[in-house]
Amino acid sequence: MTVRENVVVSAAVRDKLGPSLQQILDSLWAIDCQTCNQPLPGRRPALSVDDFSIFASATLHHHECRQSAWNETDQIRAAAGETVSHHTLCALLPVAYGDNGEEGRKPFVLVNPGLEMIYLARSALGQWAVEPNRAFVDAGFAPPPLTSTPVPGAVVELRGNQLVIGFRSGLMGPFDVNLNDEARNLVAAEGGAVVLMTHAVDPHEITDPTQLEPALRGDRTLMGYTQLAG
Ligand SMILES: [Zn+2]
Repeated sequence: MTVRENVVVSAAVRDKLGPSLQQILDSLWAIDCQTCNQPLPGRRPALSVDDFSIFASATLHHHECRQSAWNETDQIRAAAGETVSHHTLCALLPVAYGDNGEEGRKPFVLVNPGLEMIYLARSALGQWAVEPNRAFVDAGFAPPPLTSTPVPGAVVELRGNQLVIGFRSGLMGPFDVNLNDEARNLVAAEGGAVVLMTHAVDPHEITDPTQLEPALRGDRTLMGYTQLAG
């Protein structure tokens, strides 16, 4: 479950986010505190936003570690990378191949790169919305439609039954994904995998393929075909 139910949101944060608050709470999961890095479950999480004018970061903290606030000071209080949790999953989904519509299964790799921290961008009308990390756009990940052109800034590597997603910029990842034998063989045969970077779902909560629908249609999600390192 996302953090929506039991999170402290100050009047200032509520006021600044307005109707965007719902989408932002639907994109955060209470895993670890972004101040002390200890688990959030069991204590009340609080939502803070660091506003850098054209973009912002929204983070979860224990209420006792950092009270819910809208921070516009120059003091950068955004989370350091090592406190942010990420979850991954490889799902095998049925797809139609070729002209005769033959059915097969294809691996789709899901990464939520920031369960307790997301970036926000402000529209021309002043409305904040969840924005995928610029580093993924720079690597070549994009909204749908998915194309077969490999993303230039990322590669995947098979290490036993793990798939490792690496970024040439070194700014993100690497992200490890567990594969079963079928998924491993499909990735090896195809020479790559479709990778989705998403803030719409927690990959560890997926129990049914229908839960992938928001990510596949591009809701808070970037995607790209990522080649095996050769
Ligand atoms: Zn804490």
